[in-house]
Parts: sequence; C-alpha cells; structure tokens
Amino acid sequence: KNFTDYPLSEEIMRALSGLGYETPTEVQTEVIPVALGKKDLVVKSQTGSGKTAAYGIPLCELVDWNENKPQALILTPTRELAVQVNEDLTNIGRFKRIKSTPLFGKHPFHMQKAELKQRTHMVVGTPGRVLDHIERGTLSLDRIAYLVIDEADEMLNMGFIEQVQSIIGALPKDRVTMLFSATFPEDVAKLSRKYMNQPAQIEI
Ligand code: AMP
Repeated sequence: KNFTDYPLSEEIMRALSGLGYETPTEVQTEVIPVALGKKDLVVKSQTGSGKTAAYGIPLCELVDWNENKPQALILTPTRELAVQVNEDLTNIGRFKRIKSTPLFGKHPFHMQKAELKQRTHMVVGTPGRVLDHIERGTLSLDRIAYLVIDEADEMLNMGFIEQVQSIIGALPKDRVTMLFSATFPEDVAKLSRKYMNQPAQIEI
C-alpha cells in the first residue's frame, strides 16, 4: 500500500513527505479510505500504531479551508494527548494552511476564547474544557461535521462519560463519528451504539 492509492491532494501528500511518512501503517491502510468516504468508524488500535494520522490525514483532506467555524472536534482524555494531536494535525495540514486549536484545562480560558474567534478548522481538547467553552458560548458547534473520540477507554476510565455525552448531545446530528480505543469494555461499546451510525469495525 502507498499513500498515492488514496485520493489525497498535493498539499497533503507534500506534508506526508515532509514528515517522512513513506507508506501508510496498518491502521492508516484500513481507516483512510473509509474515513474519506465519510463513514462512521470504530477502531481498536494501540498508541504507536499511527492512529492519529489515520484520522488526521482524512480530516485535513476533508475540511473546507474557506469555512470560518470549526468543522472537526477531536476529544482526548489528557492535555498531553491534545497537544500531540494538535501538533500532528498542524503538521499534516501545513500546506493546506489548516488551523487546529487545542483546548484544555489549566490554561487561560480567555486566550483560548480569543483563538476561537479566529478562523479555526479543527478543535482538539479534553472533555471538561471543551464543555466549558460550549456552555459559555465561545465554541461554535453548528458546522461540526466530524467528531473523533480518541482513546475512548481512557476517557471513560477517567470519569468523563457525562461530559462526553453532553458534548455529543450538543453536536449536529448530521456528522461523521470516529471512535478509537485500545480496549472495548461495555461502556465504550454502549457509547458507540448510542451515538454512531452503523460504524465500520476495524481491529488492528
Ligand atoms: P501514534 O500512534 O498516532 O501516536 O503515532 C506513532 C508515531 O508514528 C508518531 O511519532 C507518528 O509521527 C509516526 N507515524 C505515523 N504514521 C506514520 C507513517 N505512515 N510512517 C512513519 N511514521 C508514522
């Protein structure tokens, strides 16, 4: 398999070369074509498998640069992962000039609020702070077309289930949802049944 097997723009291909990504990893091979087809996805994979780029590449490809409001929301259990994912998305979307904004606690709210007033294509954050922005009206959700729930098992282990459900409940129904998890305890399976539309199941 090769990245040229997928309908990716020159801007994204150039970014992948720059990052030294020569061939897709296993999870990328499975996820990229399905995500580009805008189908819901449940993926069982570990950190280190290249899962961030597996959803990051299709998201960077699919978002419309001309739209001012956020189009993709990525939820992560920790601020460390939010920072890492934000960096990866920024790198992959570099030549398309994709703007990604990280949102996490213990960081000044007003600075994030100011950033959200600028054009941002994607938002990556932890559930508590994302919900904060939603409740205070500083994060617009009406153009969100893509939701990624990353490390879903960790997120639920950390007690974020209610926040995650509140966030999903506030999103447009017409969207693509992708869930990534290393394990599938019953509450993760329940989340996917409740909020996803006949997702493709991928196990790495
Ligand atoms: P992740 O599982 O998303 O944390 O990614 C693990 C590591 O693999 C990161 O350092 C990525 O930059 C790297 N990576 C992701 N995709 C590729 C690829 N296709 N080729 C080489 N390295 C990659």
